[in-house]
Amino acid sequence: MHYLSTRNENIVTNASTAILEGLSADGGLYTPSEIPVLGKNELALLRTMNYEKRAAWILACYLNDYTDEELLSISQSAYLKFESGNVAPVVSIGENTFMLELFRGPTSAFKDVALSIMPQLLTSALHKSGSDDEICILVATSGDTGKAALEGYTDLEGTKIIVFYPDEGISPVQKLQMSTHVGKNTFVCGIKGNFDDAQTGVKKLFLDIELREKLAKHGIRLSSANSINWGRLVPQIVYYISAYCDMLNSGMIDTCEKVNVCVPTGNFGNILAAYYAKKMGLPIKMLICASNTNRVLDEFIRTGIYNANRKFDKTISPSMDIIVSSNVERLLFEILGHSGKDISKLMSSLNESYCFELNSDAHNILKESFVSDWCSEAETKDTINEYYKSGRYLPDTHTAVALNVLNKYKKRTGDQTKTLVASTASPFKFASDVLSAIGFDVSDDLKAIDQLSEVSGYPVPGPLVGLNNRPILHTRVIECADMRKTSEFLLGIHDDKG
Ligand SMILES: *Cc1c(COP(=O)(O)O)cnc(C)c1O
Repeated sequence: MHYLSTRNENIVTNASTAILEGLSADGGLYTPSEIPVLGKNELALLRTMNYEKRAAWILACYLNDYTDEELLSISQSAYLKFESGNVAPVVSIGENTFMLELFRGPTSAFKDVALSIMPQLLTSALHKSGSDDEICILVATSGDTGKAALEGYTDLEGTKIIVFYPDEGISPVQKLQMSTHVGKNTFVCGIKGNFDDAQTGVKKLFLDIELREKLAKHGIRLSSANSINWGRLVPQIVYYISAYCDMLNSGMIDTCEKVNVCVPTGNFGNILAAYYAKKMGLPIKMLICASNTNRVLDEFIRTGIYNANRKFDKTISPSMDIIVSSNVERLLFEILGHSGKDISKLMSSLNESYCFELNSDAHNILKESFVSDWCSEAETKDTINEYYKSGRYLPDTHTAVALNVLNKYKKRTGDQTKTLVASTASPFKFASDVLSAIGFDVSDDLKAIDQLSEVSGYPVPGPLVGLNNRPILHTRVIECADMRKTSEFLLGIHDDKG
């Protein structure tokens, strides 16, 4: 297996280089040349393993220039930071609905599952390449990636990390998690703009040849922790396969029984991982893509038209407030038969006119696997309230979007297939909005965490305990235009000539 740029299938590299570079030099995303297939025997074998072993085994299917021992040791040390023995548990809440809880890691959101593994995949890739450069990770975050990446990279030898977040686009808890982060190789910086501005800015830095050369002179190379990096995606494939094994083992489903997977979607990384699991042969019927009011993906799946020419809404599910979803490009790679030429055309169209359209063949392939819907702010709150009051579940604001969309889908289609819903964050991470949804006045955003615990009777997750007593260490907020200058300054290589 090789890795190809989505924009030019003649750009070929191996797994470790794809992870090391993050983004191909032509702006494309590295994507595997073929998707490994899981047979019945493999699934039977995986059923007997614990999460760490399943992860190492599945990673090995994709990352063939890493050794099995290396992957097992990476996976075992990565998940030490998770609640014991429970990286990604499946919880049945009735009505054929199963929550895949992905928030048991060090920052209480699903990004931890991949970002606990990725830093070690990266440093190991660097060693394989024979280089002793320092790696600088640049991250654009809509809130959750930033803190999870900071956790993953803190004090990791040979790395530095700079996180850019939209100053007014993340929740108070998310902001506090990042601004209080301790680590000598970690930098956090607000930007005046939204997530798309941050993501575009980071992509620009990656493609800035002058900057790359300057960094190279100082022995620094750039890499990404966003889901444009393949190293972020593989560990996400693992939990869908692992969940299916757990459901089989606990009798929630029968052998070969098909399930639907419903995912609250932003940058299209998480649901894309489920798509790869499906392509690998995991018995998944439909992938249900749930959008908030930034419903560009819902529209894309329904119509085949990706229209980024729209107003950006700030919602109570901020990690889904995204208009240009990077990983759609990897999906295009699959449904357009690996044609870099076709994808380049669509991506230029997106760049120039903020819009592209699939031909009807490609759109039909898309619709074979994906359905979608969206959810208003009021519906998100009502859903939290309904599930909480009926004693079924206390979803966070993102997971509530998925539950709402799942219910709409069931009503519309009558499909009663058992459904795995990605529960992407702890409700405590979005405590103020969750509290107000279940009918409580929130006097103080930062006290909301304890208040939610008192009201609901659930304990505050470890990583969020005492958050509002930690000292604020990062206060920098910059213009988007200054992202390069600031990065150079933080890396200690800025000079006035630029
Ligand atoms: C990042 C995130 C999402 C969106 O996931 P994508 O992979 O970007 O589609 C949904 N919910 C939460 C809580 C997140 O942090």
